[in-house]
Amino acid sequence: MQFTKLRLSGFKSFVDATELVIEPGMTGVVGPNGCGKSNLVEALRWAMGETSAKSMRGREMDDVIFAGSSDRPSRNVADVTLYLNNDERKAPAMFNDLEEIEVTRRIDRGSGSTYRVNGKEVRARDVQLLFADAATGAHSTALVSQGRIGALINAKPADRRSLLEEAAGITGLHSRRHEAELRLRAAETNLERLDDVIATLE
Ligand code: ATP
Repeated sequence: MQFTKLRLSGFKSFVDATELVIEPGMTGVVGPNGCGKSNLVEALRWAMGETSAKSMRGREMDDVIFAGSSDRPSRNVADVTLYLNNDERKAPAMFNDLEEIEVTRRIDRGSGSTYRVNGKEVRARDVQLLFADAATGAHSTALVSQGRIGALINAKPADRRSLLEEAAGITGLHSRRHEAELRLRAAETNLERLDDVIATLE
């Protein structure tokens, strides 16, 4: 899958609807300090399901919404849409009939985030797995933010291992195994309760 376009509105400094076209090959974003280059990369991570407000350089997730400036009032909504080309049909089964995938994340002040894929509401988990299966995502090694190299050098072995697993494209499998284990544990608890009920009836 190829990222083809990023569309932002009300996100951080991008108060007006803004589109960044991602052509094949190299795309460079240049501009003076504070013009919003890092905000663009954060928009990418956010649309892929980032859950940590801290790693979005905020205190809470609502801080990604345009906070107002000397001449513009603040907004109550931010949304980011990431467009993916799925020509090669490499998306997970639930999205694989789509030729172009549009992943939208929207946040309403005080109400949290919602996710849509081609207009249809989905869970955050579905979006996170979509990108994990494509060996990318909010914590992808493909996104190198300021200070990340230093953090990697000082990382614990377990954290380094998760980076290797992500590069190998098996992060999605780990999440699914974890979910399956939780379901299995819940089923075992139910069986135990059933045994108790049967014992009381006998
Ligand atoms: P540098 O080259 O210094 O790293 P940059 O181009 O990467 O800068 P960013 O860090 O992306 O710039 O953008 C910082 C700007 O975004 C600041 O002017 C900051 O005020 C603005 N900003 C961040 N969050 C919001 C928000 N919620 N509402 C409005 N503006 C915001």
